[in-house]
Amino acid sequence: MEVWLQDHLLAVVAFVLTVILGHLYFAERGTGIKLSKRYRNSIFEAQSKVFLNATQYLIQGKKDLAIREFLNAVDINRETLETYFALGGLFRSNGEIDKAISIHRSLIARENISEATRLQALKELAVDFDKGGMLDKAIETYKDVLKVNRDQYDVVAALCRIYESIEDWDEAYNYRLLLSRVGHENQAETISHILVEKAKTYFQKGEFITCEEGLEDAFRFAPSVTAKILYLKLALAKGSIDQANSVLFELLKEHSMYASFVFSSLEEPFNATEKQRQAYQERLAALKEFFLSITDEELLASPAIVLAKVRLFKAAEKNQEAYELLKDWLGHNKNPSDVLRTEYIKILIDLGKQDEVIGQVGELLNHLHQSLARYFCAHCGYDADHIFWRCPQCYEWETIQFRWKV
Ligand SMILES: [Zn+2]
Repeated sequence: MEVWLQDHLLAVVAFVLTVILGHLYFAERGTGIKLSKRYRNSIFEAQSKVFLNATQYLIQGKKDLAIREFLNAVDINRETLETYFALGGLFRSNGEIDKAISIHRSLIARENISEATRLQALKELAVDFDKGGMLDKAIETYKDVLKVNRDQYDVVAALCRIYESIEDWDEAYNYRLLLSRVGHENQAETISHILVEKAKTYFQKGEFITCEEGLEDAFRFAPSVTAKILYLKLALAKGSIDQANSVLFELLKEHSMYASFVFSSLEEPFNATEKQRQAYQERLAALKEFFLSITDEELLASPAIVLAKVRLFKAAEKNQEAYELLKDWLGHNKNPSDVLRTEYIKILIDLGKQDEVIGQVGELLNHLHQSLARYFCAHCGYDADHIFWRCPQCYEWETIQFRWKV
């Protein structure tokens, strides 16, 4: 019985609540009882005690007991709206979305509540839908809230998050603009990212002109890294090789850490005519040649640039070049990353340089430390092995950090 009750507590609570609400509904209709003033005062005292107890349970993490206390309060005073809100919130945080929804719906449907309370209930209902993954309904309900009062930062922010998640870039853009107005904070970087994501969809469809127009809009807001990478892709798709080279050079000068990623994103497939694709591939091959020939000292001091070069050499089966580059680099840099050392060891094995392998493995083992994933979010710590411009966990833009991974 104990265990059963534990497992089904919220179901029992909901049932009891329904019975109580039903009872109150009929009692009110039937007799229209009015409570005496003295009775009201005692209710108020009892209710304060209930809230105190429930709050303490919540602080102690005892959700079940808190729900029980709140139910007591419902029993005492049917007009206590805060109780319903608190109960709805508890059901929602307990994952019982349908029960939270029915509580908030019943609040909205009430006749004798203020418009402010109705709006609060509507907002809670939107959050229920949102948390329950019913995104269409969440969007609709959040928008209903905004129809009443547009100046609500958290509601606009929620719509931004949803539209970005479902990659509706037009609406994501609209609500970011609204957010910058409501929140009085600059959203230019994020809007640039959103416009780049939209422009990318045109690139993938081979609609380069439309892509370029969208990208210009993105640059107007902020020159984000993603905007620059897409600009480079456009240069490969429809510009000259000289243009592509100088775009790449500028890009690396400012963001050398993205070197490897730049090249892997240039390989992404897109729809275009055979002729267009061929031209793109030819320019890309020339761009790689240009990159491998870069001798700029500042750029070569960056381990990310060296790693990108080594990977391109290896992909072109130029192990000897990769070996010479790394040998020289490791000779000048006292504390190279594990990933560079590991690449070096792999190349040594490929080239049959056994003696050097043994020395390098010893060095590597001395320095080796474990890492979980290739990338992580500087804002919330989210780990991933793929690039994310918008963190899937905390929804911040461009918080990605690189971890050197073997
Ligand atoms: Zn994050």
